[in-house]
Amino acid sequence: MTQYKIALLPGDGIGPECMAATRIVLDRLVADTPGLDLEFTSHHAGAELYRETGETLPDAVLQDCLQAHAVLLSAIGLPDVRQPDGTEVQPTMMVGLRRALGVHSAVRPVKLYPGAPCALRDTGPGIDFVVIRENLEGLFASFGGGSQVGNEVATDTLVVTRQGTRQVVDYACRLARRRKGRPSDGQRMVTCVDKANVFRSFAFFRKVFFETAAAHADVVSDAVYVDAMSLYMVQKPWDFDVLVMENQFGDILSDLGAGLVGGLGLGPSGEIGERHALFQPSHGTAPQLAGKNVANPMATILSAAMMMDWLGDQHQDPVCTQAGLQLEAAVASVLAAEQVLTPDLGGSASTTEVAQAVAQSLEPSSKISV
Ligand code: ATP
Repeated sequence: MTQYKIALLPGDGIGPECMAATRIVLDRLVADTPGLDLEFTSHHAGAELYRETGETLPDAVLQDCLQAHAVLLSAIGLPDVRQPDGTEVQPTMMVGLRRALGVHSAVRPVKLYPGAPCALRDTGPGIDFVVIRENLEGLFASFGGGSQVGNEVATDTLVVTRQGTRQVVDYACRLARRRKGRPSDGQRMVTCVDKANVFRSFAFFRKVFFETAAAHADVVSDAVYVDAMSLYMVQKPWDFDVLVMENQFGDILSDLGAGLVGGLGLGPSGEIGERHALFQPSHGTAPQLAGKNVANPMATILSAAMMMDWLGDQHQDPVCTQAGLQLEAAVASVLAAEQVLTPDLGGSASTTEVAQAVAQSLEPSSKISV
């Protein structure tokens, strides 16, 4: 039996509460699952630490993240904690952590669970697609760079490389093979989202996309311009399965996706590399909710479900894969019952009560796919 080392970064604002809630669920899961062994190390990192020490991510913490089997992060950043240049500490820390871990594919499932509030009147055959955002280059390659000419002009450069594009497209195709296909007809497909009609960098992204996708003949590949995709995500989201795109486009469309299926409190994410992976909810630190035990912990719990699924895939360990299914099914059953929900979902339960309800709903034979 493998013991998986998980580095926990609870972070700032509502982060520690959501992490504590997730630990309630994970501890119950481990206690009830023969053959599942998780060892947690928890570290201070982020804006509060920066306020105290001037550091967001001490080297010892980074080293522990690099040595762990996976990293689970809750939320980082506080608007009143700033670097000398006036910017928040969160982007610097997260870009540094992503680059150090080499996590090239950011994965955001957009899945409508029964009981979750949906912004659309007609949900057709259901919503279940994944936004995959290239996570290390694109417009964010310019982070920490860029240039300003006098007081008149500023530039940032968007970078698309063959290797970076191949890695993210290859990951998208492999993920599509593990999924059930798009809700409208079960077709497994990967869609490139770009602006290839206007920019050379996106034309190149699309070219490498089709070259790479050709190696995955069982998955249909197509391409849609980003402006059209933002329309289709609202009009017919059930026609999509896996979407892959440049970093900045993914940043925007993944929040649109979260908005379709119940808001940030339900949006998990994974950031996947060849050796390392980092999991965190899509939401930020929501400082006005911090310390009140009212934040929705489901996005962090669903991120932990994605982590277990990734560990199962990476280590060919069916116990972890099953644990991921159980976690997701437990969240889905609490949502569907509509009894124990936090205020963002129209309920009055606390963060802790939701965690306890999810822990009580864990069942060994859950079948929902992540
Ligand atoms: P960041 O810039 O760090 O991504 P943000 O400014 O986008 O953060 P968030 O902190 O993600 O903002 O949250 C925006 C709003 O969404 C919050 O003010 C809060 O009302 C709501 N929200 C976010 N996460 C949760 C949660 N887990 N539970 C309840 N409400 C949440």
